[in-house]
Amino acid sequence: MRTFSEDEYHIPFFDEYGYVRKRCPKCGEYFWTQNPDQELCGEATREGCAEYTFIGDPPTSRAYTLREMREAFLSFFERNGHERIKPYPIVARWRDDLYFTNASIIDFQPYVTEGIIPPPANPLVISQPCVRFLDVDNVGPTFGRHLTIFEMGGHHAFNYPDKEVYWKDETVRYHHEFLTEELCVRSEEIIYK
Ligand SMILES: [Zn+2]
Repeated sequence: MRTFSEDEYHIPFFDEYGYVRKRCPKCGEYFWTQNPDQELCGEATREGCAEYTFIGDPPTSRAYTLREMREAFLSFFERNGHERIKPYPIVARWRDDLYFTNASIIDFQPYVTEGIIPPPANPLVISQPCVRFLDVDNVGPTFGRHLTIFEMGGHHAFNYPDKEVYWKDETVRYHHEFLTEELCVRSEEIIYK
């Protein structure tokens, strides 16, 4: 497993919002939290760093249907300068190394990410249906956090040597604003891993 140095993810956002970096004693991974008493990373890992608690008790201000959540996500990023892109097929026919689209970034690999063609928009937002068997052995043990079929909400910014759109700090800021202001999740409940 690749481990990252503290500096690699020590973004200005964490200092501004009073986040501290801690190491989970169960799974050994590092995470950032606003709560200095937080011990575990909070992820439903195989090691059992968290229970799966939000069914019937969402951390959001209300329950959302899939359709409502998809629209909330897409329109939030649209309002923040991202162009909404239609989902790609789940059969990844533009790839010769993969049968199924298993993440939103797959849509843009290899041609956009290799710089061969420009992205359809930059930055963009997409809700991509995914079929995923790569980590099928996690389906079940992680109590619903790994699935074979799901929809991945992705906001993508493609940076070029002569043009940076945005990177880690803005990515986390967008996420934090979406969760706290749009979905009304309490900031202290949000852990970054
Ligand atoms: Zn953990």
